[in-house]
Amino acid sequence: MYSNQDLINKIKDLKKKKNAVILAHYYTNPEIQDIADFLGDSLGLSRQAAKTKADIIVFCGVNFMAETASIISPDKKVLIPDINASCSLAKSINLAQLKQWKKENPGSVVVTYVNTFADIKAESDYCCTSANAAKIVGSIDKDKKILFLPDKNLGKFAKLKTNRNIKIWQGTCHVHVEIDDAIVNKAILKHPEADILIHPECNVSIDFIKNHKNIFLYSTAGMIKHAEQSSKKDFIIATETGMIYALKKRFPCKNFYAVSENAICEYMKYNNLKKVYNSLKNEEYEVKVENSLAQKASKPIEKMLKIS
Ligand code: SF4
Repeated sequence: MYSNQDLINKIKDLKKKKNAVILAHYYTNPEIQDIADFLGDSLGLSRQAAKTKADIIVFCGVNFMAETASIISPDKKVLIPDINASCSLAKSINLAQLKQWKKENPGSVVVTYVNTFADIKAESDYCCTSANAAKIVGSIDKDKKILFLPDKNLGKFAKLKTNRNIKIWQGTCHVHVEIDDAIVNKAILKHPEADILIHPECNVSIDFIKNHKNIFLYSTAGMIKHAEQSSKKDFIIATETGMIYALKKRFPCKNFYAVSENAICEYMKYNNLKKVYNSLKNEEYEVKVENSLAQKASKPIEKMLKIS
């Protein structure tokens, strides 16, 4: 039985020996964030994956993120420490459902959030992130009908910002959908002076946002930037609670309050030191998107990267 410090030392040795890097999402446990070579959101991490000279990438996140890293970096070995780390949002649409939706809406342009599996990306015209959804939607010809998937709340905000003709798939993340007007309001009453940073997957109404000052819709990377640039000291953070650790570590003189202590993604928390050690030692579990699928899935990602 190894102590955490033993595991950290062994992970460092294996990383060096195998020329590996550890990428971790902001929603992972502190122990994982602390050993990561790069910490970020799903797209930021995939970009790191593409840049790194390492032979092995241990992706501490969930499976669609490791898939995206494999699509962007087909020559690298991408490992995920727990093969069961999945995503309720990515699972909210399957290939048969997407094909049927496209059939019912011929000629529509499909915009797909990166929180989806490779087969869904491969059937899409554009990918988007929570940071650039409105920009991607806004870049599409005005006369085109748009199918946006899978997150209904991100779609709602993209529609509001662009005023475009969008049909929205009614998928949700089981963590963010629980964060609604009432929960945010409760946090505002506790911390009335704070800026409120809300992830667009949250189930907050447009009226609520319009009726409150100091509310900002941000991706996780956007939250970091706002905290860095703001003169405010207090921030309510409406997303998965792992983000609080990432923000406090980066800005120790500022205060960050989780909108809800229950906003926990159990899939992200599957990553732990023991599993990262096993992953590096046994080179498990490899996530490899088959070549022809990866080529198709990379096209909407590349189109997004060109625009954003
Ligand atoms: S927080 Fe939600 S969207 Fe993010 S990985 Fe977990 S289930 Fe998926």
